[in-house]
Formats: sequence, C-alpha cells, structure tokens
Amino acid sequence: MKEIMPVNGIFEMPALPFEASVLKGVISAETLSFHHGKHLKAYVDNMNKMLPGSGLEGFSLVEVVKRAEGGMFNNAGQVLNHTMYFEQFAAKCDNNKPEGKLLSLIERDFGSFDAFKTEFVQKGVGLFGSGWVWLSLNADGKLVITQEPNAENPVRKGLKPLLTFDVWEHAYYLDYQNRRADHLAALWDIIDWRVIEERL
Ligand code: MN
Repeated sequence: MKEIMPVNGIFEMPALPFEASVLKGVISAETLSFHHGKHLKAYVDNMNKMLPGSGLEGFSLVEVVKRAEGGMFNNAGQVLNHTMYFEQFAAKCDNNKPEGKLLSLIERDFGSFDAFKTEFVQKGVGLFGSGWVWLSLNADGKLVITQEPNAENPVRKGLKPLLTFDVWEHAYYLDYQNRRADHLAALWDIIDWRVIEERL
C-alpha cells in the first residue's frame, strides 16, 4: 500500500484515477459525482478540520487510521477506505480476472476464483447496515475476507488490505436502489487486478 502523507498539515483530496463516465453500466457518472465529489470530499474536509491539536499531525493516513478514535477515526477511516476503493477500478473489460501470484493465492485459499467471488459477494450482502467487505493478507500470508462495519479498515486488525467493495447505500442507491447483491456482482467487471496485485 502506498504511503499517503499530509502536505502542509492537510491531506489532499484524492483525484479520481479515471474519467467519471468510463465505469457506466456498473457505476454511473452521477453516482461517482456524489460518492467521490460529495461524500469523500466531506470526509477529507472533516478529517482536516480535526487534525490540528489531535496529536496525529504528521502521521501517514494509515497511521492516523490505526491511532484515531471517535469522529477523527470515522472520517480518516472513510478517507482511507474510499481512496483504496476508487483506485481499484478501470473501464469495463471482458474476462476480467487476477493473474500470476495473486490468482495462485486465491486458488490456494478459496479453491477457485469463482468460489472466492461467491464468498466475497455473500459477505458483502450479509453485512448488516453500512460498511465494507475486504480481501486482505494476514500475518501468515493467507488471504482472508472480512466484514468491516462503518469506517473500519483491516489495518486496525493487523491485516494488509487488498480489495474492497463499499456496501454503504450511497455507493449504489442511485443506480441499483435496494439491489445490493446485483451491484456487488457487477463490480467484478471493473476491477483493475494490476492495482490489487501491486498491493500484495
Ligand atoms: Mn462510500
């Protein structure tokens, strides 16, 4: 995971790494304009307002998330979660799947890529309320899927986070309304597996 540091005492708003229209059919430009431009922007602004005097000045974003509590944690956690979420997407492509070492680990720990996808979506659908489903690497080098409520992130459990689906309703309600399962199943088409493999 690349280290994100504050610049002149504040964390910068991460730019979308693609044109807002290229995910259409899975995530609309309208959803992105709210999700990135409004929700993430508010988390970044709130975190920056709370940073002075918090004792967390000068730490990287991951270190802030590991140490913060209360409102500071809620906002910093959501900045880290959304930064990793938006980074992992690319234009829709056919036969989108991991390769190499990452595919080998998935097949070793889940049996097959399809079995992994099924379990990941089930855990996303089964998460009650707002939160995130994550694929991470644990300290023993094994892949694990965790459900993280609200602003939680696997770094707080000592895991290395690789891939995430946002199951907050703001991530899908404009495009899918209550159909969370349909939204999560569609996300596989836009995962840039090179980004996920770089996080290993
Ligand atoms: Mn979100």
